[in-house]
This record gives sequence, structure tokens and C-alpha cells, in this order.
Amino acid sequence: MRRILVVGAGQAGLHLALGLLRNGYDVTVVSNRTPDDIRGGRVMSSQAMFGTALGHERDLGLDLWADDCPPIDGIQFAVAGPDGEPAIHWAARLDTPARSVDQRLKMPGWMAEVERLGGKIVIHDATVDDLEDYAARYDLVLVAAGKGAISSLFERDESRSSYRAPQRALALTYVNGLVPRPGHSAVCFNVIPGIGEYFVFPALTVTGPCEIMVFEGVPGGPMDCWADVRTPAEHLARSRWVLETFLPWEADRCGDVELTDEGGVLSGGFTPTVRRPVAMLPSGAPVMGVADVVVLNDPITGQGANNAAKCAASYLSDILERGERPFDAAWMERAFERYWQEARHVTAWTNALLAPPPPHVLEVLGAAGGLPEVASRFVNGFDDPSDYASWFMDPAGAAEYLARFGK
Ligand SMILES: Cc1cc2nc3c(=O)[nH]c(=O)nc-3n(C[C@H](O)[C@H](O)[C@H](O)COP(=O)(O)OP(=O)(O)OC[C@H]3O[C@@H](n4cnc5c(N)ncnc54)[C@H](O)[C@@H]3O)c2cc1C
Repeated sequence: MRRILVVGAGQAGLHLALGLLRNGYDVTVVSNRTPDDIRGGRVMSSQAMFGTALGHERDLGLDLWADDCPPIDGIQFAVAGPDGEPAIHWAARLDTPARSVDQRLKMPGWMAEVERLGGKIVIHDATVDDLEDYAARYDLVLVAAGKGAISSLFERDESRSSYRAPQRALALTYVNGLVPRPGHSAVCFNVIPGIGEYFVFPALTVTGPCEIMVFEGVPGGPMDCWADVRTPAEHLARSRWVLETFLPWEADRCGDVELTDEGGVLSGGFTPTVRRPVAMLPSGAPVMGVADVVVLNDPITGQGANNAAKCAASYLSDILERGERPFDAAWMERAFERYWQEARHVTAWTNALLAPPPPHVLEVLGAAGGLPEVASRFVNGFDDPSDYASWFMDPAGAAEYLARFGK
């Protein structure tokens, strides 16, 4: 039985661990937080996941909250105009509903599942010295530590990383009492040109169904406004202020909102970074990076948890296919490159949305208001961002696509 150790009990690490356990591997997961720490702690994500990523979870029987979590049936897109009204405003349905299960609920549930299937959970904050020890004792060491400090062991890939600093001041506010949009449920995605973005959607949290507000402020601008916030109540008040100031139609939905719990708030920022997939330990043993460790994108497109599931599924099939042969550095590089063929589209598209939109993007998003087919294609690209390469990401492709509709 091959022995595999995973550092990090998050979206990718636990998905991969559970996939390996179901295939008869001996699996140990090292987590720097206990299930109670995670459940009783602070939110770290808004974790909306689309059809393909949810399908990977379902394939392994990991969709334990599918019946309780409210579906997200579509995406609504709005751009704030100068007069307090949206200049662009349209919505389209997703072919498959998206869902967001609070990781404070999901990860403790999956940790219990690891133990139920015979895997081991070790509570420990893994260091480089620990990795040496693990590499000597296990056939494969996977580092799925997200934004944890240990991830810096993996070298930044300059050729694939566009940014050297955080591109948005981020904040999350988990609330109850938000008025649903009319019609189907949706991620309501709002752009405030030059200032930032705000999106909000239904989810399942530790207290039951809720809505998650996500704020993305351009650094140094008026939505980069969280540094002096000290308490959850102040955080909620600041969230309201942003909406009342820039998005009155969203503020109108928030008359009765209250926090789901004291842990339902977060603010901060990080630099989007792609890293080399293999880190060589001082002894010369290779360890392999997973998901956010190697491809870390800004949450503006809501892709990180999706990528984590896709990375876990991709690595799982590579590990199974490897059989009894060694997990050497060359194999690790190849497995990552296979995942990157998909992830590179997510990174390119996400980085593009962080920059001011070029004319062809404004044209597409404007045209989508009158062309349901264009709106549907844009919305469903969140599930498969590789589709954007030939049109949304390419001025000539966008022109050719819109010309089909007489635009
Ligand atoms: C504000 C915000 C909003 C987001 N919204 C979305 C969204 O709507 N949709 C979406 O798809 N993605 C979203 N994401 C991104 C998504 O949450 C992450 O990309 C995803 O969780 C990454 O999974 P992971 O397994 O790589 O890392 P994580 O889920 O971060 O898991 C890493 C785990 O490793 C542990 N760890 C770290 N260091 C060590 C160590 N040394 N030893 C042991 N354990 C360690 C951590 O405690 C953690 O439990 C959002 C992120 C942010 C910040």
C-alpha cells in the first residue's frame, strides 16, 4: 500500500486525501488547525463552486451538504453608473447551479470522513524539517497549505506571475436578512469603475443558510477601507457604508441584515502568484505543491476553491495512473503541467479582470444585456474559464463573435 502525506486540511488537501483513501492508499493529513479551531474560527473564503468542481466532489461522495445548501442559479452583472443607477444590468442562468458551503462546516466534516475511511489526521504546524522527515517516511509528500508560510518554499514562477503586490483590498461579510433578488438566485456581481467590485450570493454557513458579501477594493481607493475596522459590528457598518455610497440598489436589499456570527467577517489582501510545482528539500528530496500553493489567484472571479477541486481531481488521476513507479520530481512537473493547461486560463482571465477593462470587454459586457446567448456564455464561463480564451480574452475573437449577432 503506497503511503502519501498531505500537509493542509483545506479544500484541495482533504479532497485529494479522500480520493486517495477511496482508492486504497495509506493517507496522513497534517493540519495546523483542529476541526474545532476551524468550525469555531473565522471565515477565510466565500468558496462559491461551480458545476464542474462540484461534480469532482460528487464523484467521490464528498457533496455532503448538497441538500441543505441553497443553490446559486445564475449570475447577475451590473456596472455602477454616475447617477446612482446601474449603467449595465443583466442576468443569466448557470447551466448547473453553483453552491457555497462555508469551509468552517465543510473541512471538519471532511476531516471526520478521512478518519472514518481509515486515514490519519495529525494536528501540527508543519515546518521544513518536518517535510524532510515526511519525505523519508512516505512515498509522496503533497503540500496543500494554501497561503500558509510554508508555501514560500515553492519558488515564484516569474514567467507566470503578473503581479508583485496585492491588487485588491478584500473583505467578507456573512449575513442573514438580505432581501433575495427577484426571480432566480444569483451571484450579484457589481463593478464600480476604478473603485472596486462587490458580489453577494446565497450560501450555507455554520448557523444555516446565509448570504456572503465579498468586497474587492482597488488599493488606495475608497473601498480600501478596512484597516481601521476593529470589531465585527464595525465591519458590518463599513460594509453597509460601501453599499450605500456606491451601490444604492444593493444597499436597498440590506435594511435588515445582521452578521451570521462573530467569525463571519474577514479583511486583508495577498499577491496573486504562480509558483514552481516542486520544492527540493535540503536533503534533495522533492515535495509537490497543490492548488493555492502553486496557483494563487485573486478571488475576483471566485475560482480558487474551484481550482483546488480541479487540481485535486487532476493530481488524483495522475497518482493512480503512476501505479508503483516512483513519484520523482520529473513526474511532479508533468502532473502540474497537465493541471496548468486548465489553470492557466483561470489565471489569465482573473488577472485580466483586475486591470481596467479594454474596449472589447466593455463591448461584450454591454452587448450581453440585449443578447441572452452572449450573457449565458459569459456566465457559464465561470464554470469553464478556458472558454474565454477564444473570445472574451481576445479582441479579434470578441469582434468576430459579436458580429454573429449583427453587432
Ligand atoms: C476573500 C476570499 C474569497 C474567496 N472566494 C472564493 C469563491 O467564491 N470561490 C472560490 O472558488 N474560491 C474563493 N476563494 C479562494 C478559495 O477559498 C481558495 O482558493 C481555496 O480554499 C484554496 O484551497 P487550498 O486547499 O489550496 O487552500 P486552503 O483551503 O487555504 O487550505 C490550506 C490549509 O492548510 C493549512 N495549513 C497552512 N499551513 C500549514 C502548515 N504549515 N501545516 C499544516 N497545515 C497548514 C491551513 O490552515 C488550511 O487549513 C476566496 C478566497 C478569499 C481570500
